[in-house]
Amino acid sequence: MRVATRYSHSIPKLVCPDGEDGLIISTDNLNHVIEIDKEKMLMTLESGVTLSQLIDEAAKSGLALPYTPYWWGLTIGGLLGTGAHGNGEFDGGMKAAKVSLGVLGVISQITLQLQPMFKRSVTLVTKNDTDLSDQVTVFGRQHEFADITWYPSQKKVVYRVDDRVSSNESANGLWDHPGFRATPSLALIILRSTEEDQEKRGDIAGKCRDGKLTSDILIKSAFGLTNDGVVFKGYPVVGYQNRLQASGGCLKGLKDGEITACPWDPRVKGLFFHQTTFSIALSKVKDFIQDIQKLAIIAPQSLCGLDLYNGILMRYVTGSNAYIGKQEDSVDFDITYYRSEDPKTPRLYEDVLEEIEQIALFKYNGLPHWGKNRNVAFVGAIKKYEKGREFLKVKEKYDPLGLFSNEWTDQVLGLKGGLTIVKEGCALEGLCLCSEDIHCAPQKGYLCRPGKIFKDARVCTFVQAMNR
Ligand SMILES: Cc1cc2nc3c(=O)[nH]c(=O)nc-3n(C[C@H](O)[C@H](O)[C@H](O)COP(=O)(O)OP(=O)(O)OC[C@H]3O[C@@H](n4cnc5c(N)ncnc54)[C@H](O)[C@@H]3O)c2cc1C
Repeated sequence: MRVATRYSHSIPKLVCPDGEDGLIISTDNLNHVIEIDKEKMLMTLESGVTLSQLIDEAAKSGLALPYTPYWWGLTIGGLLGTGAHGNGEFDGGMKAAKVSLGVLGVISQITLQLQPMFKRSVTLVTKNDTDLSDQVTVFGRQHEFADITWYPSQKKVVYRVDDRVSSNESANGLWDHPGFRATPSLALIILRSTEEDQEKRGDIAGKCRDGKLTSDILIKSAFGLTNDGVVFKGYPVVGYQNRLQASGGCLKGLKDGEITACPWDPRVKGLFFHQTTFSIALSKVKDFIQDIQKLAIIAPQSLCGLDLYNGILMRYVTGSNAYIGKQEDSVDFDITYYRSEDPKTPRLYEDVLEEIEQIALFKYNGLPHWGKNRNVAFVGAIKKYEKGREFLKVKEKYDPLGLFSNEWTDQVLGLKGGLTIVKEGCALEGLCLCSEDIHCAPQKGYLCRPGKIFKDARVCTFVQAMNR
């Protein structure tokens, strides 16, 4: 028995019930705000309410939720399910239920503590990445809503300097993230087939060129920020929290029979990608960034593909007391990259991203985002949580029969094997860590080799015929 939400955004198999007889409980109609107590600034809502509804309804009462994910479409129940976050800590309640994977039962209602509405001032500053590894540890403490977008192949960084300002500042800025807008399906199809073609032809220069063009356009267009909801005239962009914290234009787009769609909509043959998302403790993040920089020096074009998906997004998350949430102040890394429709076809520079994934998870003990990632990210994940056992005790108490668990939740919680699936080509899809060439694509020249800088990594590396 599993809970599904309106859009069911999580990538891993969290929602699938087991076998033929499983039940899915939908929270689609649990979409009402029940009560707003303006004086105490409390909002009680049903768990299927989306972030967009929550933000709008709170704003009508002059209230705001400070730290949220950037995407309107997730539900408050789903957010608690995976511990989804923006910057700072989303504070939602009990230690086990705060991040629950849905294994404790169904959350029907939630009461949130809000704050009085406030304004923010945002300036995006583009610099080179020479001192990024030093900046990253301090920048998040300097600006309440800081984030960083990094294009390692271009050695370029965009710092989001973003703080509360006095509400007397007159301005009505808006953030409408281009990646979340209704996009013509035809454009999505063309983008995808261009990348497929580049992958097929080994045209890494083409990917670098298109990646740079994409990031240049985004930077020039202020990533969708406008000073008045219409045009961008310059920084800073000042506006109310509810207009700057998240967006999702494609959710409110026309019902036009998929002439336009959200860029990841599976009904359109548009973008198809892997997402590797993890958080690294602030104390280790400097070394991690330097490792990525070393890889970018050894293989300069290897990370160009990331720029097509807007680089590496880095957000600050505060340590939480949730049993399987972030244990300490950390930086969350969001990495999105090409995925072949054919699971046995390797990506260009397959090995470099695999190495980054393994460096993050195994060298620096990164914690995977429960709602994203490929199987390998969850190997040993539960053991990384000091309070992992406490979580399992609560699960045992709330649901001793495991009615709300499925095979996947048992696997990621370490209660069942089978998380990695060892078969031909398994490492390409992140189903396994390669230990033999057959786990890569030997017939295409991709063999299982140690990492370039993290020798414990095992990655699918393209090896020239004469060196095989
Ligand atoms: C475009 C996009 C942008 C995103 N941006 C961010 C971001 O900025 N930050 C971030 O951290 N993540 C982000 N994500 C990931 C996403 O937020 C998480 O995967 C989130 O959990 C999805 O929420 P959902 O409502 O779709 O829940 P689902 O994916 O449907 O559910 C997640 C889990 O919660 C359980 N669950 C849901 N509701 C309940 C309930 N009422 N009771 C019990 N269990 C429940 C489900 O069974 C499942 O296990 C993004 C995803 C997309 C597609």
